[in-house]
Amino acid sequence: MKKKTIYSHKCDWCNRELILNGSDSDSYVVTAEYKYFCFIQTRGKPAERDCMADYLNDINEKIIKEAKDLEIKKRQKEEQEKLEKEKRNLERTRVLPKLEALKKEFKDREFQRRLSKHPS
Ligand SMILES: [Zn+2]
Repeated sequence: MKKKTIYSHKCDWCNRELILNGSDSDSYVVTAEYKYFCFIQTRGKPAERDCMADYLNDINEKIIKEAKDLEIKKRQKEEQEKLEKEKRNLERTRVLPKLEALKKEFKDREFQRRLSKHPS
């Protein structure tokens, strides 16, 4: 009896050992990225085990979740920036009149000093 080499590969989703060839081989699918997944289906029936679908669903969910997280982060950042801007505006309106008053006072003092230096 000729001994046949049996190849096996772990399912990239559930880690089950898949027998790739021989009489005891499992049914599986291989993706373009050489990922192996269990795929058990009786003809004419929905798949009993479809690890690729589960894997893809999981990726999809992660992408959706990441997109949501990004959206939330973006919104939080925008809120934060809006708040900062408002704060700055508020500070400016509070500080500016004081600054103007100080400048005016300074100018008046300069003017008076000049007057005292050069009495006419
Ligand atoms: Zn599997």
